[in-house]
Amino acid sequence: MQRYYQPEIETMDPAQLRQLQSERLVRQVRHVWDNVPYYRKKMEEKGLTPDDIQGLEDLHKLPFLSKDDLREAYPMGLLAAPLSECVRIQSTSGTTGRRVVAFYTQHDIDLWNECCARAIMAAGGNEDDVVQVCYGYGLFTGGAGLDGGSHKVGCLTLPMSSGNTDRQIQFMKDLHATILCCTPSYAAYIGETLHEMGYGPEDIDLKAGIFGAEPWTEEMRRDIEKSLGIKAYDIYGLTEISGPGVSFECSEQTGMHINEDHFIAEIINPETGEVLPDGEVGELVFTSLDKEAFPLLRYRTRDLCVLSRKKCACGRTHVKMSKPLGRSDDMMIIRGVNVFPSQIETVLLNEGYSPNYRIEVDRVNNTDTLDIFVELSPEMFSDTVREVEAREKKLAAAVTAMLGIRPKMHLVAPKSIQRSEGKAVRVIDRRKLHD
Ligand code: ADP
Ligand code: ZN
Repeated sequence: MQRYYQPEIETMDPAQLRQLQSERLVRQVRHVWDNVPYYRKKMEEKGLTPDDIQGLEDLHKLPFLSKDDLREAYPMGLLAAPLSECVRIQSTSGTTGRRVVAFYTQHDIDLWNECCARAIMAAGGNEDDVVQVCYGYGLFTGGAGLDGGSHKVGCLTLPMSSGNTDRQIQFMKDLHATILCCTPSYAAYIGETLHEMGYGPEDIDLKAGIFGAEPWTEEMRRDIEKSLGIKAYDIYGLTEISGPGVSFECSEQTGMHINEDHFIAEIINPETGEVLPDGEVGELVFTSLDKEAFPLLRYRTRDLCVLSRKKCACGRTHVKMSKPLGRSDDMMIIRGVNVFPSQIETVLLNEGYSPNYRIEVDRVNNTDTLDIFVELSPEMFSDTVREVEAREKKLAAAVTAMLGIRPKMHLVAPKSIQRSEGKAVRVIDRRKLHD
């Protein structure tokens, strides 16, 4: 039986949904114009007033907002509600530079938590479930978001935060956790530790995992599903737009439904800003529709993905986004070739290695170098030097076939690459240091 958290919204007739978005957009633009001088100035520079935005068809007229705008307006330049009405802040992880601070009223928190509740129910959760949240709690949105969603659904919530992996497993067993929420890299680490402690999927009660906050491949999904004996669901979000739950996967596992009653999604050409039709790869842009404290219009996420409006068998009518291929600023250009870390991850896992790897890029004598470090499994570790060299050669050939450029492979001892309890740092680009 398919269950939704808010069926009337999640399965709303598409035409009605467009109508709802139009009405909310008009209201949201006026709210921003009235309360955010920073954005009002941007609109004035384009000769716009709120009267120019009568509905969805006028969205394209609005100026974009970028992460640089958020940094420039830091800390309160985009605040659209009096501080006395705000009840909370969260902040980005700072993966790509200076942190951004987002503000929430109670209404904004409820809206965000409802999005996470939808995600938990889409993963098969209900009030009988025990949800173990090991995303970090604190400024990072992961912990607070899934925690709030779990409360809304009525699950028993284990607010573990990240780290202390042995204790995570102890609680998972003792309290019979059924749904695990964390980053995919931490889920892989928990799976690895479970097996090291001599347990297997049959010793725990987990049935599903809700993993996000960083890119992960289908190969990684299969690995985690096997090691924990669960179905693994993707969840996407960003602090600027609210946090996790902006979109989430359903039982079909073919993309994440974007909560379109709260956020409009567009795909643009990142170079020209031109809006692209559904089905084309481009940069994801969000417009919030009913936020009070931190409403952003046409915010450029820098995440690259594809939108699909194909009917989904789960019954939800909201548009689906593909897994982000990576951030536009994650993409490395090595010897003139575009390389995403996810492509390398796909090859490594397909060749039977663990998702413990590190990519190092440098420039030596004006030529880019690509070094990939990946762990041998304990069984492979007893191989002779010659066997290890043969493995490195085979792996280098497989990566070359994927990327079109040849890496230098380094097979290293088991456990020698640092595990991640939050967002994994997999790439070290030393070229930036020479600039
Ligand atoms: P930061 O930008 O500092 O990492 P956030 O913690 O708000 O701040 O992270 C949001 C970003 O994390 C997104 O823009 C996206 O790049 C990445 N992200 C979040 N969820 C996913 C996911 N499911 N798959 C891939 N990337 C994701
Ligand atoms: Zn669906």
